[in-house]
Amino acid sequence: MSDSPKPRDGVMDIAAYVGGESKIPGVNRIIKLSSNEGPFGPSVHASKAHATEAINLHRYPDGGAVALREAIGKRYNLDPVRIVCGAGSDELISLLCSAYTSPGDEVLYSQHGFMMYPISAKAAGATPVTAPETNKTADVDALLRAVTDKTKIVFLANPNNPTGTYLPKAEVARLRDGLRDNILLVIDAAYAEYVKLDDYSAGIELVDAGNNTVMTRTFSKIYGLGGVRLGWCYAPENVVDVLNRVRGPFNVSSSAIAAGVAAIEDVAFEEMSRAHNDKWREWTAVELQKLGLDVTPSLGNFLLVCFGDDPDRNAEAADQFLKARGIVIRRMNGYGFPNCLRITIGLEEDMRAVVDTLAAFLGRNDTDANQ
Ligand SMILES: *Cc1c(COP(=O)(O)O)cnc(C)c1O
Repeated sequence: MSDSPKPRDGVMDIAAYVGGESKIPGVNRIIKLSSNEGPFGPSVHASKAHATEAINLHRYPDGGAVALREAIGKRYNLDPVRIVCGAGSDELISLLCSAYTSPGDEVLYSQHGFMMYPISAKAAGATPVTAPETNKTADVDALLRAVTDKTKIVFLANPNNPTGTYLPKAEVARLRDGLRDNILLVIDAAYAEYVKLDDYSAGIELVDAGNNTVMTRTFSKIYGLGGVRLGWCYAPENVVDVLNRVRGPFNVSSSAIAAGVAAIEDVAFEEMSRAHNDKWREWTAVELQKLGLDVTPSLGNFLLVCFGDDPDRNAEAADQFLKARGIVIRRMNGYGFPNCLRITIGLEEDMRAVVDTLAAFLGRNDTDANQ
């Protein structure tokens, strides 16, 4: 048994992505705030459209996802020909890495960038490279300094997960200007629907300005459709052509297409979700700061919350304390924040429960702490 099939170099270096936990042994009812899922579930229109597809499951989906690309195009005033859909934006990230890098090439992203970038880079045989951040925010100068002859792709999550910080559109434009024309800039705007700021852009105008910038989006966050796996990108024609060659011919299911069309047309649901997120993200941040916790200002549907050094009151102890009370949040060790937790913005009652529980945790006397 000395010989067995061997994967490409780098594959065995991949640490598989670990998603947010959804179960606690012995606890029946949990509050799950670990995966940045929209707290209202999907739009009822999306659920209904998805269910309607049940009788057609013997049919292959429309491999071009035309109805969905047209619905997205209409909603955002984009040419559907320049939209490609994927099984989650994760699939598009991975396809871009495999199509645009070869072994030895570099994929650059910022220090606390989204974990799928190094995973997809390594799976393609490329080398992930990080640039330091300033105040937990991507730093354009640091990114530009980290570019080498081998750099093929730069990923920028804007706003970023897990920090929630963002770069204003002028900074993203400066990043594009500073990159060689043959470097693909991928702006991952998974949380764009949550942001309404004059100096923010999801990147559409940069995609339009050249042939080397792509914007990716997802249905998994504000639309509450993480379970169907659906994402899309807006790209220049040359990149669309490449993605349509390398993607699976039926990479998006018929149920996902139906749910996506209904979701993107339900503007009222999106607005309600955004308003809720604005209100409860602000409320939660203020309440947690009053408890003395360090909360990074966030534009996403989550907060990065950092703890002090006292081993009885650090992030690990807080995680245990929350878990024992049925609240699941995300540890951040894998992102280089061992003393921080990421908390998704849930329903009002969820956020009140988080704040009350963390207040109890921090206010414990040492007798409680030793129990
Ligand atoms: C959640 C997330 C994604 C992936 O979303 P899917 O469409 O579910 O694959 C991509 N990028 C960032 C930054 C995210 O937080």
